[in-house]
Amino acid sequence: MGDNPGVLVLNAGSSSLKYRLVAPDRPDDLDHGLIERIGEPGGDATDHAHAVATVVERLSGQTITATGHRVVHGGDRFRAPVLVDDEVIGAIEELARLAPLHNPAAAAGIRAARAALPGTPAVAVFDTAFHATLPPPAYTYALDQELASRYGIRRYGFHGISVRYVVDATARLLDRPVAQLNLIVLHLGNGASATAVRGGASVATSMGLTPLEGLVMGTRAGDIDPAVVFHLARVSGLSLDEIEDRYQHRSGLAGLCGDNDLRVVQARADAGEPDAALALDVYCHRIRHYVGAYHAVLGRLDAVVFTAGVGEHSGQVRQQSLDGLDALGIVVDPARNRSGTGARVVSPDTGRVVVCVVPTDEERAIAQETAALLEMNGSW
Ligand code: ADP
Repeated sequence: MGDNPGVLVLNAGSSSLKYRLVAPDRPDDLDHGLIERIGEPGGDATDHAHAVATVVERLSGQTITATGHRVVHGGDRFRAPVLVDDEVIGAIEELARLAPLHNPAAAAGIRAARAALPGTPAVAVFDTAFHATLPPPAYTYALDQELASRYGIRRYGFHGISVRYVVDATARLLDRPVAQLNLIVLHLGNGASATAVRGGASVATSMGLTPLEGLVMGTRAGDIDPAVVFHLARVSGLSLDEIEDRYQHRSGLAGLCGDNDLRVVQARADAGEPDAALALDVYCHRIRHYVGAYHAVLGRLDAVVFTAGVGEHSGQVRQQSLDGLDALGIVVDPARNRSGTGARVVSPDTGRVVVCVVPTDEERAIAQETAALLEMNGSW
């Protein structure tokens, strides 16, 4: 191990590779960057192996003690971070049937990292793992169970790396042990999800078999009558792939008003554009729907926690989503909600339920989970 041990965190998408070199116990990054347009003409790299080789070259001279990889889908198999070997990579590739957009890139990134850094331990950290504690009523779809079990159809949940990190940070902010806290965590980024957390365990979450279910997102519809697919297939002449493309890339805020960036939607709504105002209303209505539902699931609620791009920065979304929930003990303090940065409480001191903003940091979470696993194995 070098003087300055660092975890190289790799977050591989289909055509991009985000990297950060993180010392888990130091607040600032040792390095970070982005390789874009992988495999495209004029892109930064011809394939994932080339992209990882480029990263390793950029970081030459720095100590890389381990690599930590974000893997979106761990299926039923991966309930915690795992040290990677050939068999694990095979299993991640096999799970591509559940996450065709995400898992192949992650597996390619892991393979490339092992080739470029032979002998350096690689750890896979899964977005689904935190939700392994979901109880059967929360993860079972009321579908023909023979079909469901044959094809692995159930709720898995995503954003787990972020949610776990935010739960720990919330406990520090409130100065209370995680084990005593009942939380609703609203991760509102380009993707968006709500999770009910009891004593540190996920007990309900809005994303499902895939990250398409639940809240309204930048370009994804979230909850929708499943019969819309059948109806569209019958009446629109669109193929299944085309309908999926509409669901993934042309729905959500983008479908409602043409813009997926919430800042733009908000500015347009403020300027009086009705489609943008409706988009914002639908977005906040869905959040409120889940807050009420998860309050009921949890019974007692200690805090509603907002995180990720929209959750951390949009006071308006926080205010509008929770407006009028006084009867549930949920109140936002307008002055606190308008200002401040970092982890902070935005409810009045008298509020029965704390409303707070807690920044997430998925790459740091991956670095910490990687270091923790290797420490446990005695190889850190
Ligand atoms: P990702 O899911 O890609 O990690 P982020 O967590 O960065 O995304 O969130 C992206 C979203 O956050 C975008 O919709 C963006 O408009 C929104 N956002 C970022 N900054 C602000 C802001 N100051 N006010 C409102 N929304 C913001």
